[in-house]
Amino acid sequence: MNVHGKDLPVPSFFQVYNYGGGNGDKDREIVYAELTGNTPALINYFYINNSFPHTFSSKLFNEIGRFNTVGDLYNFIRASLIKKGEIYRGYSSPDYDFNQKVFLLDSGAYNIMKQIAESVDYNLALFRERILEAAAEYYDFADRIKCDIVVGFDLGGKYTEKDGEKKNPRLVRFLASLDKNEINNALLELTVKYIKEHPDYYPYVLATVHGDTPAEYSENTRYILSLEEQYNARFWGFALGGVASYKQVDPSWYNDINLSRIGKRGFIETIVPARASKIVRELVGDRPIHALGCGGYNNIALNYYCGATSFDAASPVRRVGDGSEESTRIVFDPTPSKVGFSKFFMGGINMDNTMRPEKTGYIKLNEVPDSMPLCGCPACLQAQTVHNIKQLYSMKSTNSEANYYSRQLIGLHAVMQHRKLCEILPNYAGIQDFSIAYPNELFRGLKYISERL
Ligand SMILES: [Zn+2]
Repeated sequence: MNVHGKDLPVPSFFQVYNYGGGNGDKDREIVYAELTGNTPALINYFYINNSFPHTFSSKLFNEIGRFNTVGDLYNFIRASLIKKGEIYRGYSSPDYDFNQKVFLLDSGAYNIMKQIAESVDYNLALFRERILEAAAEYYDFADRIKCDIVVGFDLGGKYTEKDGEKKNPRLVRFLASLDKNEINNALLELTVKYIKEHPDYYPYVLATVHGDTPAEYSENTRYILSLEEQYNARFWGFALGGVASYKQVDPSWYNDINLSRIGKRGFIETIVPARASKIVRELVGDRPIHALGCGGYNNIALNYYCGATSFDAASPVRRVGDGSEESTRIVFDPTPSKVGFSKFFMGGINMDNTMRPEKTGYIKLNEVPDSMPLCGCPACLQAQTVHNIKQLYSMKSTNSEANYYSRQLIGLHAVMQHRKLCEILPNYAGIQDFSIAYPNELFRGLKYISERL
């Protein structure tokens, strides 16, 4: 696909940039951006917009008004972080331009709605009014910084109990009392009107589909198509919302699928996004479909063969965050340990397209054999050997940037593995052919599921 003159392959894995929503590794992911080249990125409006106070807000985003493109904004952030010294001295940092990346803006509406609910003292009518205003402000913002694609503002589906929310019973009661479908549909209508009223709007807009069951998902997709007709306006594509978590989902998503033969582990999470992709694909013709938060390695193949064109996941870099201080002192001891280590993505496909022999998945860095050849991605080329990664990782107490750098090598290698899988899949007509060319336990299991979807 061509997105504002940039190439967006189908399928595409979006790397999640959470700079502004955390420190440490989140900063270094921007600093070492070149290691994932032009891999597209998802950014979160709540994190990058300092008009919403939040724990890790970055002062650098106060300068946002100075930049005409989101790429220029991130070029500025990267340069500022490097200047601050957040880079390993043993690494020679090349020039890099974020304008080559496709940026997708997601609203982070869950955090926004919490703040709005508080600010209106849990008054439902005021909340509804204010949330619609917030959505329009979000679309204006995306246009000002020229985001390439914007995800429709949506309240999201399920609310998991997150940070301290339990301590706020009023908020919990308020969230439970909301008619989310009604508000989400009002947001869809606002969005379609917004597109109609802004013919020169820069970002491509994705309509966010929601629904608790497959039947509701299909109904909501039809509702979006009817809005397009009613207002004579068109979304560029669709975003699949509320399907990233396999916990607490309606059992009807799993109809006709019995995982006892292949086991749930690694497979259960692939079913809901795959089914949602299939439902939406059958209704919307050939337009883009992005599965929000559904880009975990195991999800990618079924998402694609069921009709999704892109997806994102924070997991590759999040697994790096498991590395504790203590683990840096015992990284050369391969004995399985209870200590939290940064995790390395094993298996997958080498950059020369050959299959790797290891079992696919994340394992603790100390358990990765020093003799294991690396995959040939830019991060692995920098690292040269597993031993070098462990060496850098072990230097935490004397050179914290060496440790951060090792963590980026690990995390960005995992990102490149997700991307590599996306490059290979379109060469095969379906999961059947693909799993013959790349035979392993994971892909055989996915084939089993695919036959039952
Ligand atoms: Zn690699």
